[in-house]
Amino acid sequence: MPLRFFNTYSRELEEFKPRDGKKIDIYTCGPTVYSRAHIGNFRAYIFEDLLVRHLEARGFKVHRVMNITDVDDKTIRGARESKQPLRKFTQQFKDAFFEDAAKLRIKRADDYPAATDQHYIDKMIAMISTLISKGLAYQADDKSVYYRINKFPNYGKLAHINLDELQSTGRVKHDEYDKEHIGDFALWKAWDEDDGDVKWESPWGPGRPGWHIECSAMAMALLGDQIDMHCGGVDNIFPHHEAEIAQSEGVTEKKFVNVWLHCAHLLVDGQKMAKSLGNFYTVPDVLAKGYTGREIRYALMRVHYRTQLNFTWDGMKEARESLGRVDDWLERLRECAGDETGKIDNQFGHEFEDALDDDLNISAALGFLFETIRETNRAMDENKLDPATAGRWLHWWDRINQTLDFEGEGAELPDEVAKLAEERAQARLAKDFRKSDELRDKLNALGWESRDTKDGQKITRRAGAK
Ligand SMILES: [Zn+2]
Repeated sequence: MPLRFFNTYSRELEEFKPRDGKKIDIYTCGPTVYSRAHIGNFRAYIFEDLLVRHLEARGFKVHRVMNITDVDDKTIRGARESKQPLRKFTQQFKDAFFEDAAKLRIKRADDYPAATDQHYIDKMIAMISTLISKGLAYQADDKSVYYRINKFPNYGKLAHINLDELQSTGRVKHDEYDKEHIGDFALWKAWDEDDGDVKWESPWGPGRPGWHIECSAMAMALLGDQIDMHCGGVDNIFPHHEAEIAQSEGVTEKKFVNVWLHCAHLLVDGQKMAKSLGNFYTVPDVLAKGYTGREIRYALMRVHYRTQLNFTWDGMKEARESLGRVDDWLERLRECAGDETGKIDNQFGHEFEDALDDDLNISAALGFLFETIRETNRAMDENKLDPATAGRWLHWWDRINQTLDFEGEGAELPDEVAKLAEERAQARLAKDFRKSDELRDKLNALGWESRDTKDGQKITRRAGAK
């Protein structure tokens, strides 16, 4: 079956063909570093991680770029309110983003361009100059430069909006009175007092780039005029991605992006996440409840990316139980296989990859995994699974786990738990079983179970423990 993806631009499932054989360029909109990213943001980054890993599993060479927006209204306001220089203010949230992404086992992109890098500011200025020279942009009385959306015939095609609607939908800000059309968006924002020392020189006077031009310029600088895939959340479609198309195609007159992929919203307990509702969670918030990075990864990945995902604490419990089933299954399989490694056959269990070929149908792929677990467990219960077949399923797991990255969390034990586990291992070595039992009880009280297997002590979450 060919690779298929739902293209937001056409609103259709399309067969995907990279422009250049086995090479795929992907641009993904990254975080705006004015606060710690929340789990809704990470849902999109997890979807992109699944996408990249599946394409790599299919033998493609992926070049992925994710930008870091480190200058905009929110970052400038945050820096001013906390009385820090912009760079220092944003650095803490950049660090937090990479820390959280690592916890969730998100593979690093090849490039993380930052909008404040002078190299990219120069590219943005060059693009804006070209747009002005083509009549697609103008400097208004307020000294800012705006895109003239009337002059770009395809404006609105991605979001399926026509220009007349813009006036009435209230989807654009009404605070910029100097523009020719209410939908014209800023390419270059003239400096004002609120910007403090945040400014760059340009042919239009001091100022800073608009958010949309940042992505167009960085995507084109790193990936070229045309790219295979561009991803983001549904809230990026308008105006952000619509503006990117207008800017890039306005300059190059070539089709900017082949396929647009957008991830649906994350809800918490059926509601939109909001600080005021008390249902706003970051990755550390969920970790603080005793869950691990891979459990969050599972919970955010298991629903198809175009379906709304409802995050609940019951869902986190289910994630723990599901991963526990995988862990137990692997342990049984390894015991059953023994020294038998089985033959490597990349067609074995191909149903998993086939499901992902179909617009990343993760529900079907996981359905196949858990059906496999049920069937092989039953066969092992009845002593009917031969070691060679167990070995083949283990090879299969190694293969699909390159994409899922669900296995093991030894490295993720909380410090206190790791310390008790180590003490208990030492006590058992010294044959001090009373102490070892005491330590087992302590671990239990903390919600962890210690089991002694032939490969040594195994620490797992106690079922139902928070
Ligand atoms: Zn972007």
